[in-house]
Amino acid sequence: MKIAVLGAGESGLSAALLAHNKGYQVFVSDAGTIKPTHVLALTDNHIAFEQNGHDVERILKCDKIIKSPGIADSTPIIQAIKALGIPIISEIEFAFQYVQGKIIAITGSNGKTTTSYLTCHLLQQAGYNVALCGNVGESLARKVLEKNYDYYVVELSSFQLDYMFDFKADVSILLNITEDHLDRYDYQFSKYIHSKFRILQNQSHADAFIYWQEDPIIQSALQVKRLLPELLPFALETPNQTAYFDAFSSSLVFPSMDFAIEKTALVLQGKHNYMNIMAAVLAAHRLGVQNHTLLYALGNFVNVPHRLELVDTLQGVAYINDSKATNVDSAWYALDSQTKPIVWLVGGVDKGNDYNKLLDLVKQKVKAIVMLGKDNEKIQTFFSPFVQELYDTHSMADAVLQAQNIAQTGDVVLLSPACASFDLFNNYEHRGACFKQEVCKLSTL
Ligand code: ADP
Repeated sequence: MKIAVLGAGESGLSAALLAHNKGYQVFVSDAGTIKPTHVLALTDNHIAFEQNGHDVERILKCDKIIKSPGIADSTPIIQAIKALGIPIISEIEFAFQYVQGKIIAITGSNGKTTTSYLTCHLLQQAGYNVALCGNVGESLARKVLEKNYDYYVVELSSFQLDYMFDFKADVSILLNITEDHLDRYDYQFSKYIHSKFRILQNQSHADAFIYWQEDPIIQSALQVKRLLPELLPFALETPNQTAYFDAFSSSLVFPSMDFAIEKTALVLQGKHNYMNIMAAVLAAHRLGVQNHTLLYALGNFVNVPHRLELVDTLQGVAYINDSKATNVDSAWYALDSQTKPIVWLVGGVDKGNDYNKLLDLVKQKVKAIVMLGKDNEKIQTFFSPFVQELYDTHSMADAVLQAQNIAQTGDVVLLSPACASFDLFNNYEHRGACFKQEVCKLSTL
C-alpha cells in the first residue's frame, strides 16, 4: 500500500517513520524546505521524499494521504486529492491504530498544553507509564514507535481533529471553545465548533467526557447531542457533583471523589488554571489515581514556560511572561488573574481580534499599555480613549525598557500579547525568550 505524507515537520516525519516501519511504501512531500535533521532521518531510513514543491502525479497515485495539521484544505494539492476521493487522515489517526494503551485526549481553544502537562504529571506521580504527545512536543506516531506506553496524554488541535475518524479517546477533555483560527474554517464559527466536538467521536458507555459546564458554546452544543460516555463536568461558579470552585472556602471541590484542595495549595493560579486543574484531576481520578497522590502532585507541579510565568521581581515590579497568550481570550484570563496595577505589553499579528472583550478589565487594571508589534495602529485606536499612557514599540528591547520606565513598586509588567508573534519573532517561544532575556538584562543594569 502506498502512503503519501504531506509535510515533513515533527508529525509528518514520525508518521512516515511509523508507516515505513509497518511496511507501507512511503513518499514524503513538503512544499517548503525540510529541516536538515529530518532529511537525515528520512535518508537514513531509505524513505523517498521531496521538498520545495509537490510531485502531484506521484501523490495522486497513493492509496492514502497523511496530512500535516499546518496544511490548509484550500491548498491546490489537497483540493486535487479530494477531487479524486483519496482518503486523507491526520498523523494521530494513523498512529492510533497501533496504540495499545489508554488515550486521554485534550482539546479546547485555550489551556490544552497546561492541562496536558498537568494530566501527564498527575499520572506519572502515581507511577504510571505515560507518554505526553500530540500538538505538544513529540507526536503520537513517534511515541508509538518508541515503545508501548500504558497511557497516552494527547493534546489535539482542531486541525488534527478534522482528519480523525476511527480515533477514540478513553477519556476526552474539552476545556472551552472561543473563536480562533477562523481563517481555516471559512470564517464560520460553527465549523470550528464542530471540529472541536470530534473529540467525542466513537466514545461509548465505558468512556468519559470531561468538559466546562458553564461554557455557553459547549452548553448549547451538548443540548442537541446524544452522548454515550459518562459526563464529568467542571464549573467555576455552579456547584455540582463532580468538580467546582467553591468561592466560600477558596477551594476546588470534587464531591463525588470526596476530595477538595485549597487554592493556596496549588502551584497554578488564576481562574483559567482552576479549570485546567479540575479537568486534569477528574481525568486522573477516572484512571485510578488516589486522592493523596493528587494532593501531593498538585503541589509539586512545575508549570510550562510562557504561560503566566514569573520571570523576576525587580525593584518591587513583577515581570510576567505570558507570551503564549496569542488570542484575546487567553489575554483576558491573564489580565483577570492579576491583582496589581498592570503595565501591559500587547500586540503582534492580529487575528481579527475583538478587543471589546478586554475593555472592562483594561479599564479596571491596566495603568499603561506598551504596544509591541510591527503595526500597532489597531490597538492604539481602540484603547487610547481608555488608557492614558500608550507607547508604540517595535522591538522587545524597547518594549521592556519602556515598561521598566513606567512601572513602579507594586506594579506588574505583563507580556500577554493577545496576538500571534510572527511579525517580529519566529514563534511565541522566541517572543517569550526575548522577553526573559531583556528582563534579565534589567537585573544586571
Ligand atoms: P493552548 O495549548 O490551548 O494554547 P496553553 O496551556 O498553552 O493553551 O495556554 C495558552 C494561553 O491561554 C496562556 O496564555 C494561558 O495563560 C491561557 N490559558 C490557559 N488555560 C486557559 C483556560 N482554561 N482558559 C482560557 N485561557 C487559558
